[in-house]
Amino acid sequence: MITSVRRLAAACALGAALATLAACGTDRPSASPAPQAPQAPQTPQAPHAPQHAPAPSPAVSRPPTLAPGPAGLTPVFKNGPRTPDRTVALTFDADMTADEGPRAAAGEHFDNPQLIATLRALKVPATVFMTGRWAEEYPIQARSIGRDPLFEIANHSYSHYAFTGDCYGLPTVSEDRMRSEVERTYTAFRKAGVDNAMPYFRFPGGCYDQKALRALSATGVTAVQWDVVSGDAFATDSDAVAKQVLEGVKPGSVVVMHCTRSAAPATERAVRLIVPELRKQGYRFVKVSQLIGAADRRR
Ligand SMILES: [Zn+2]
Repeated sequence: MITSVRRLAAACALGAALATLAACGTDRPSASPAPQAPQAPQTPQAPHAPQHAPAPSPAVSRPPTLAPGPAGLTPVFKNGPRTPDRTVALTFDADMTADEGPRAAAGEHFDNPQLIATLRALKVPATVFMTGRWAEEYPIQARSIGRDPLFEIANHSYSHYAFTGDCYGLPTVSEDRMRSEVERTYTAFRKAGVDNAMPYFRFPGGCYDQKALRALSATGVTAVQWDVVSGDAFATDSDAVAKQVLEGVKPGSVVVMHCTRSAAPATERAVRLIVPELRKQGYRFVKVSQLIGAADRRR
């Protein structure tokens, strides 16, 4: 089962690559990265060319996505280009399951404000895959994350139920409700004041199959997996989490971690260990949109 899913993911990524290649002449504007914070204007007498690429035109604001796979299937992104330009994307799943409201009411913390504060203090860009239920529980935090240019919010379903039959014991979403799981989440984001959520979707548990990819094709999302598992879910040993990440990261990697004190209490400290070490190794932290934009430009 897992093998066939992996093979499918590889096939879809390849299919997306080929399809994008064919379409890149017309899709070029949508392939540009999202605009960054405004650059300082250059003086006419600046003696040197800027170190970085020129800022994209302000008119181009659509985030980069991958072109659909074969037969219009939702494309799947796993990691960025393995180039000498050492970029890495830390991603944080803000998990809250639809039936966890009573536990939150009883005092359980599905959020992790200290983690967000640490990312801000360390100036680490990050992508937060948030469930709609999480945004409903923590609308002020959702809005604060969504409006901070350091971060981007992406979709992790409304309920955090599985999109395949056998996925870590999660309840399963029926096929006819898969699309609404995605759409209901964007509605929850907008209600919380997040109008700029990315067209990226992470399957709960990372579990998907061809049926799920087909069910989501009309939403226009790019599915985002990862190539580095941090192992932070239910971990209590920050050193072990940091070690696993540091051993797994390669240029272009997407690291999956969690933004919930309840189920990932070691993550914030692990981030404080990981960030300086990767920077020492020459890595630059970017958001998933930047990796997808870079992957697209190389096709
Ligand atoms: Zn999750």
